[in-house]
This record gives sequence, C-alpha cells and structure tokens, in this order.
Amino acid sequence: MARGTEIVIIGGGIVGLSIAYHLAARGCHNVCVLERGQIGQGATAKATGGIRQQFSREINIRLSQESLKPFERFEEEMGCSADFRQVGYLFLASSGEDWAWLKEAAALQQRLQVPVELLTPEEARRLVPGLWIDDLLGATFCGSDGIADPHAVLHGLAGQARRLGVRILEGREVTGILCDGGRVRGVRMKDGEAVAAALVVNAAGIHAREVGLMAGVEIPVEPHHRQAFVAEPLAELADSMPMTVDLRSGTYVHVERNGNIILGGGDHGDRRGFDERLDWSLLPRLIEGVTHRLPALELARIQRGWAGLREMTPDELAIVGPVPDTEGLFVAAGFSGHGFMHAPAIGKLVAELILDGKASTIDISSLSLDRFRTGQLVPERAVF
Ligand SMILES: Cc1cc2nc3c(=O)[nH]c(=O)nc-3n(C[C@H](O)[C@H](O)[C@H](O)COP(=O)(O)OP(=O)(O)OC[C@H]3O[C@@H](n4cnc5c(N)ncnc54)[C@H](O)[C@@H]3O)c2cc1C
Repeated sequence: MARGTEIVIIGGGIVGLSIAYHLAARGCHNVCVLERGQIGQGATAKATGGIRQQFSREINIRLSQESLKPFERFEEEMGCSADFRQVGYLFLASSGEDWAWLKEAAALQQRLQVPVELLTPEEARRLVPGLWIDDLLGATFCGSDGIADPHAVLHGLAGQARRLGVRILEGREVTGILCDGGRVRGVRMKDGEAVAAALVVNAAGIHAREVGLMAGVEIPVEPHHRQAFVAEPLAELADSMPMTVDLRSGTYVHVERNGNIILGGGDHGDRRGFDERLDWSLLPRLIEGVTHRLPALELARIQRGWAGLREMTPDELAIVGPVPDTEGLFVAAGFSGHGFMHAPAIGKLVAELILDGKASTIDISSLSLDRFRTGQLVPERAVF
C-alpha cells in the first residue's frame, strides 16, 4: 500500500469535514478526507441553510440542540462567520391532522427545553404580516431557530481541520473498501492507489449506499429531488421574517440578508434517481402553495433556481454508527435533508464513537444501521 493513515473519511461534505475537524480537535493527527470532486460539491452546496429544533423525534431535537451552540459561537471557534441569523422557524397547520402532530411535537420539544411556542393564527400573522390565516388552525414558533450560510460553514470547518493537520484530498474517488477477516484495512481509489487505514468512515452523502456496497453492506439511502428558487426582494417581506413552513403545501419561504426571497419545498418524496436538473415544470405548484399563504408573493419575480438531492432513509432519520460485522467501518449518512443543521453534533458524536468507543454526549443508538434489520422504525414527522 502506497500510503498509510489512521482514519480515512470518504466524502468531503459538511458531515465528513465536521467529523475530521472534531477528530483533529481531540488530538488525532492522522486523519485524511478523500473527496472525489471538490469539497462541498454534493448536497452541501445545495442546502438553503435552515437550522431548526422543531422535530417530532427526540433524537433529531437533541442533535439540533447540540448543534446550536457551535453555530452560535462559530466565529470564535473557526475564525470566520457562519452568518447565522436566528430569525426563527414558523410552522403553520391548516388540517386537524397536521395541527395534532405539530402540537404533540411541540410538547416534546418543550419537555426537552426547546423555547418553542404555540401560536394562534393571529399571533402568527403578527410575526409575518400579510399571512393569509383564514384556514389556519395554529402555528408553532421557535425564535432560536434560523438560517446560516452552508458555504461559509463548510469552508470554516475545512480551514480549521487543515490547520489542525487533517489532509483533505480532492479529486480522489474511493472505489473499494479493503477488508480482511471482518476488519477494515483501508480503501482503494479510482487510480488504483490504496490507502491503509485502521478506521474508515462512510460520509458519502447520497452515495453512501454505493460506498457501503464496496464492503458488502446495504445502507438504505436513496436520492430524492429537491429544488429551490430565488425571487427578487419585495417590500412586504422583511429579512427578519422567520423561515415560514406551510404544512398544507409543504412549501417554505425565507428572506436572505440582501432581501432575496428563497422559495422551496412542495416536492417531498420526488424520486428521479441521480438526476439533479432543475425542473421548471414544478414551479407553478410551488407558486400556488406559497401565494396561498402569502398573497404578496404573487408579485415575486423569480430570478433563478437550483436542484439537488436529499439523502433519504426509510424512516427519514440519519444512519450513524459502526457498521455491524465490519470492524473499523463507520457510517454517517442519510440525514434526510437535515445534514447541514446536524453536522456540528454529528462530528462531535462520531469522534466520540471512534475515540471513546461510545457516543456519550447524546445516545445515538436509535440511528444505528441495525434498526433496518430489526424493523423498529419510527419515522420523523417534521420532514416536508
Ligand atoms: C435543495 C436542498 C436544500 C437543503 N436545505 C437544507 C437545509 O436548509 N438545512 C439542512 O440541514 N439541510 C439541508 N439540505 C440537506 C443537506 O444539504 C444535506 O443533508 C447535507 O449537505 C449532507 O451532507 P453530507 O456531507 O452527508 O453529504 P454531501 O454534501 O453530499 O457530501 C458527500 C460527499 O461525498 C463525496 N463522495 C461520494 N462518493 C464518494 C466516493 N466514492 N469517494 C470520494 N468521495 C465521494 C461527494 O462528492 C460529496 O462531496 C438540503 C438539501 C438540498 C438538496
């Protein structure tokens, strides 16, 4: 083997880089990230930057809570700003079913100390003037949720990881995982070069399934198409407006610092393989959804859009932990559209798993790959 290292991380997205940073911060100086293209070129480059604690499953709430502090003190820790604006997330329910699970989820969040509030439709309209509330039953709002800049966070983590000695190699595609006697020994790259490693982490995003199969392991991650559009600023929508999610249509609206309006969602469950092309034919349905709730958006002038792939699992919860039957192989993938917001916690937890043999900050056993074998799946409801 040409080169040796202790820990290889496959995938230079936000998750792989966060793991690398946390390992290095805890004193591991022989960590190498292998990225087949450029760092951040996968789903991370497409993320709209939403960070929220409003979930229905305790594990997701805890991952968000554990990630919140690092986002808040990002500049202190990484030396550059994450542009984290805590404008809050507002969820709107207009059906009895949505209102019921939203209230139940909010009760759980409150038990876990999330500062989430139940709002009447009128109170929701006070937060977002111009909201059409005639069919609304209620809303939930958490003011410490918000939006950050995925590009800034990625490069902040990569810079700090490099300063701590992590090797981040771009243009290095892994095509094989080397195993021997049920133990991982390293990886092989497309150019034939092998890297010896005692530990390998599969952080390959939507390609986690293919990478898992290199070691004969099925990792149920499937790409789902998701797109977002940018509209020109409107005086009616302030940049302090919360990220507003309308469960009726599954669409969301938020405003960037420069006033540009981001519109997205309404395409949950859109399976079209690895095709990442923008589909303009979906725009009318999105516009119908957002203008129903915010009629001012009828005046919005769409400038551009983009599409990406979300890495969904059968229960829409991440898969994080050791891979059973292959000693030294770990997976951190399948974030089901929430990998940006959960990356700080995941980096810390995977470093604990690797270095201490156990994730102690949060119990992440519910994210184990084994759950698909035992069939104990309790899906996350707050995915839209
Ligand atoms: C339109 C859109 C909006 C989103 N908005 C949000 C949001 O608001 N908030 C949020 O939290 N999340 C959001 N997400 C989801 C978020 O982007 C992902 O959950 C997150 O980026 C996953 O990070 P990752 O590092 O696991 O994957 P990725 O960023 O995809 O990184 C995986 C990397 O692995 C590399 N790779 C794959 N195979 C190999 C190989 N064989 N060898 C070497 N390298 C390999 C890839 O090139 C890639 O760079 C959004 C996603 C989309 C598409």
